[in-house]
Amino acid sequence: MTAQPEVGVSDFVLMDNLTTDKFIENLHLRFQHNKIYTYIGEVLVSVNPYKTLDIYGPQHMAEYRGREMFEVQPHVYAVADACQRVLRQQGRDTCVLISGESGAGKTEASKFIMKYIAANTTQVQREYIDRVKNVLIQSNSILETFGNAKTNRNDNSSRFGKYMDIHFDYKGDPVGGHISNYLLEKSRVVALQPGERNFHSFYQLLSTNNAYTKKYALSSSAVYKILGNERATAQDSKLYSVTNSAFSALGFPANVVDDIWSIVAGVILLGELTFSEGDGEGEGEGELSVGGPLAACAGALGVAGAALRAALAGRVLAAGGDLVSKRHSRSDAHYTRLALAKAAYDRLFTWVVSQINKAIEVPRDTYKNTLIGVLDIYGFEIFDTNSFEQFCINYCNEKLQQLFIELVLKQEQEEYAREGIQWTPVQYFNNRVICELVDAPHAGIIAIMDEAALNPTKISDQQLLEAMDKRLNGHKHYTSRQLAPTDKKLKHGVDFRITHYAGDVTYSITGFMDKNKDSLWQDLKRLLRSSTNKSLADMWPEGADNIQKTSKRPPSAATLFRNSMSSLVSGLQSKEPFYVRCVKPNPHQAPNMWDPTLVGHQVAYLGLVENVRVRRAGFASRQRYDRFLKRYKMLSQYTWPNYRGRGARDAVLVLARDLQLDGLHYGHTKLFVRSAKTLHSLEAARSEL
Ligand code: ATP
Ligand code: MG
Repeated sequence: MTAQPEVGVSDFVLMDNLTTDKFIENLHLRFQHNKIYTYIGEVLVSVNPYKTLDIYGPQHMAEYRGREMFEVQPHVYAVADACQRVLRQQGRDTCVLISGESGAGKTEASKFIMKYIAANTTQVQREYIDRVKNVLIQSNSILETFGNAKTNRNDNSSRFGKYMDIHFDYKGDPVGGHISNYLLEKSRVVALQPGERNFHSFYQLLSTNNAYTKKYALSSSAVYKILGNERATAQDSKLYSVTNSAFSALGFPANVVDDIWSIVAGVILLGELTFSEGDGEGEGEGELSVGGPLAACAGALGVAGAALRAALAGRVLAAGGDLVSKRHSRSDAHYTRLALAKAAYDRLFTWVVSQINKAIEVPRDTYKNTLIGVLDIYGFEIFDTNSFEQFCINYCNEKLQQLFIELVLKQEQEEYAREGIQWTPVQYFNNRVICELVDAPHAGIIAIMDEAALNPTKISDQQLLEAMDKRLNGHKHYTSRQLAPTDKKLKHGVDFRITHYAGDVTYSITGFMDKNKDSLWQDLKRLLRSSTNKSLADMWPEGADNIQKTSKRPPSAATLFRNSMSSLVSGLQSKEPFYVRCVKPNPHQAPNMWDPTLVGHQVAYLGLVENVRVRRAGFASRQRYDRFLKRYKMLSQYTWPNYRGRGARDAVLVLARDLQLDGLHYGHTKLFVRSAKTLHSLEAARSEL
């Protein structure tokens, strides 16, 4: 190992009298010296440098191979290596949980981890392993094309949550994987914030003259509504080729690739359709006529123009055993069209993920029962206006925080028990109460929303809020203007506030009922099911349901999300977790710029200082005897160059007596050091030699 000068403190556990200010100062100091990684014990804190650092090459990978985390400079490779070592040496599943706000570097970190894992293979079966590695890495390009977009926070922002398992064979080489996706921000398909772009796929398709633009009469220079003010760029055209090569690397058949791009074209064209009242007879009787590229749109979606028109202009209802057709008003039709565009794209995304899975999955019996899971999921969000999406995302963060508390504290306690060490349990805020506020059966916010959705008469957002106020009155983490009349920050009948573990968030109830119900008229599902685009038809199995029996409501969006979170968490629970906490240094995506307030917020809501406190509440550090001895043996004449007695534990006892160290606890295999001061003095003594 090349000794590098220490900048600040490379492990926060070693800092005394830690305050938030000191934490941020240390992070800043290291950031200024391009030391973007710092540990809290085994948790990695990573600050986005927004510039290319020469720390990821093959020679850097080599430096981390087989090394203990504390022996080398903090690095995301060290985390990846530790994961792989646990897997190879103990045969245990591990996972890396990456969190942080938008633009903090989560996805980049997940890619570095995958790259490291893919490179760190044994040399046998090279060709096969190479294919697997290639496929795993290429899958990212496809996911990013369909699930990422430029936002005001991040030019390449993931608009979905991703959990990827990488499976290993008995030699510890990657043989396959599986991706789960969570909650795509589908509202983006039809509504953009100023300065933001839609999903990359739309621009990529339009960036070149290709078979699809020709077939569906799309033009790279034309203006399309769903694209907002943004146009396709040269970069999009490059990435269009990258996406297509990734499709072929993953073995997507050409006709499936055709189907996928056709759906993308169809969604762009849906955005162009307009409706006007025709010359019908009485009020509400008017036939709607559809303007815009109806034929091209229908063609792209593989359905007949007349069928698409009919499904947008009206619907068929089952009423008491009879089928009744009902015409849409202009605004209903407009709404239906947007719902169709969102739903079609959302399904497309999930379906593409399932096709990627088909390509990268290996049969259960061909891999040893070991895997590394990598979770790259949205961080806590507090916007000016927070809606249903932020509600789900922040709930997800509560669940992950709960997992963190359980695993970190549980692990600590287990280790103390295993090593025969006495300790006093640490006081910490258990956020279970907030998770339950959201997800408790029959009593939580999701249950209240679902009940409202089931009500035979249509419940408005305001009525939903009233129901929540009534049921949650007195809950310590919930309030609204109704319950706190003097709180002028909350709008009456609109806002409610949840006191999250990471801070207060005010949500606007507007749209909750609708977004939670997340329904699409059966006519549209039937239409898509009938598509000649085989892939599109495949995405809509429920379109085959008999209209009479569709009274069974599909689960609500929030319930589906809650279920996916609970299966995610129970999957993670059984694995040994590693954490990467990503921090964004400034809001401008700029290098060398440090915004202490912004960093302060993140340090607070990632709970980093508390993390150090929990980590140190027991002991500042724990190390295997041989490691400790190796690092400090030169400090005593009894252990340098070699201890004459037997065993590392004895040697450490002798060393500690000679140096008059106190606050040491001797476990069966590890030394536990109570105070960071002790470690400081040892480190200082070492550097003075
Ligand atoms: P989101 O939640 O919006 O998806 P994210 O946390 O996944 O955000 P990334 O997309 O990983 O953020 O990072 C944003 C950008 O920051 C990257 O496109 C890249 O330009 C830069 N970046 C992130 N990490 C690094 C790094 N380690 N080195 C250099 N640049 C980085
Ligand atoms: Mg991302």
